[in-house]
Amino acid sequence: MMLDYRTLLVSLGVSAFCLLLTLLGTWMARRRDGFLLTWVCGLGFIVPGIFSYAFYTEYPKVQLGVLCTSLMLTGFAVIYAAANQFCRNQAPLRPASQWSAASIAMTATPMALGYDAIAFISLNLWSAGFLFATAFRYWKGRREAVGPLSGMAALYALTGISFLLCAYMLFAEGRWVLGHAPDNWAENLNIAMSIAGMTGVGAMSLMVQQARITEHHRRESLTDPLTGLHNRRALFELHGSQMFTHEMAVIVFDIDRFKSINDQHGHATGDAVIRALAHDLKSAVGLNTTARLGGEEFSAVVRTAAPGYAEWLAERIRRSFAEREHQVEGVVVKATVSAGVAYGLPEGRDFETMLSAADGALYTAKRNGRNRVDIAPIAGDERMGTERTSA
Ligand code: GH3
Ligand code: MG
Ligand code: MG
Repeated sequence: MMLDYRTLLVSLGVSAFCLLLTLLGTWMARRRDGFLLTWVCGLGFIVPGIFSYAFYTEYPKVQLGVLCTSLMLTGFAVIYAAANQFCRNQAPLRPASQWSAASIAMTATPMALGYDAIAFISLNLWSAGFLFATAFRYWKGRREAVGPLSGMAALYALTGISFLLCAYMLFAEGRWVLGHAPDNWAENLNIAMSIAGMTGVGAMSLMVQQARITEHHRRESLTDPLTGLHNRRALFELHGSQMFTHEMAVIVFDIDRFKSINDQHGHATGDAVIRALAHDLKSAVGLNTTARLGGEEFSAVVRTAAPGYAEWLAERIRRSFAEREHQVEGVVVKATVSAGVAYGLPEGRDFETMLSAADGALYTAKRNGRNRVDIAPIAGDERMGTERTSA
């Protein structure tokens, strides 16, 4: 019977070590996810904790008992800290050291005094507590990847329950001193549950990580790196299939004579001017979606709160941008922007048409001297509008 138990313990140690390697590999592929490294550190305590406990089952010496329980408690505290780091971005060192210190004090003291049964009850209760707290964290933060994170929460909770059962069995035995490692059905169940939990958590952590990476790439593919605004693809994803009624408008902005800014002051200064306009657009109240279409061209989708609202907004942005002085490497640069506004129609207008109408109005603004806002002619005036711009 004891041999079986020790075999189980060794398999548990091996599966914990495998999980450690898996997480280490995942962390190496994506080092910004620091919680993975914290998790690895937690297992770095758990693994020797399990093996030293396997020794303890053979040689129940006090020092060995103190060592294995302290290692395991530190490991659980660090794993809990990793869950906090994952879900709440909390720095792990302080909570991990505080919780492990508290749990070790309450476990190692009775162990050192020879009351090993009390020490093991304390170990089981603290372990269950850390596992429940970890389960709770992942459950609360499950939105990031509902399936695997709920699964992880369930596995942590079930393993926690198996620790509670161990505590209960020792408690029910009613002894303060055992003189050997606890040996009852709950211990066997606990190890079996821990092996299953470790394996399941390993698989699900990979799924969570995959979901994270996918989401990261998705966000990256929709963001303009220079300005942090949506890019053209994101704009079309958000509004491409929308019909624009007269309550909606599209504005297109283009910086005036931008080539000469680049030529006179250099590309870096040009970039700074682009970022300045992006900043103005981001902080302008009333724009629904702002995107960088490319180069020094931007687009905004606006809900028209009142007739003429979109052009009023565009005009306000144009004016404040024209008044700005851009300080780049000690040189003061001024720039202006032109804008074209297109309103939707009561019967609806598709996004492509909206954009090209706003583009047409922008073209008019450029021809009419730049640093101004023009409006696309609506409905019946459309032909007239094209005549005017191509005149
Ligand atoms: P207009 O008033 O008619 O708009 O004149 P313009 O000089 O602004 O003309 P145009 O819009 O054709 O010029 C766009 C220039 O923007 C051309 C390109 O070199 C420059 N450009 C495009 N992307 C970037 C960028 O990311 N950074 C910088 N610095 N320049 C860019
Ligand atoms: Mg331009
Ligand atoms: Mg342009």
